[in-house]
Amino acid sequence: MSWDLIVKEKFASAHFLENYEGKCERMHGHTFQIEVTFNVNDLDKAGIAIDFTLIKAYLKEILPDHQVLNDLYDFSPSAENLSRYFYYKIKDKYPVSSVMIWESENAGARYSE
Ligand SMILES: [Zn+2]
Repeated sequence: MSWDLIVKEKFASAHFLENYEGKCERMHGHTFQIEVTFNVNDLDKAGIAIDFTLIKAYLKEILPDHQVLNDLYDFSPSAENLSRYFYYKIKDKYPVSSVMIWESENAGARYSE
């Protein structure tokens, strides 16, 4: 018996792709969406596994809203790299199974181990 819990949160930030030739080498912005999936096997007496409120508060704390991502990280902030970065960041606190970073409604990257 298991459940997938999914929490989504948005953040608006600017970035450009490093070591890349094309329009994304120039600074531009996205309203990114992060979609975090947790796989759980047990519920507490309230019938919940992980309190969504706590996860949302943690995401608000770690998500880079209104920032220039290239200034914050020592990697090229592609959706692929961001999903891996946030996966390990969240894994420090919660039993995450995958992290998806949407750059737009139609394109994004999901990281899992
Ligand atoms: Zn972009």
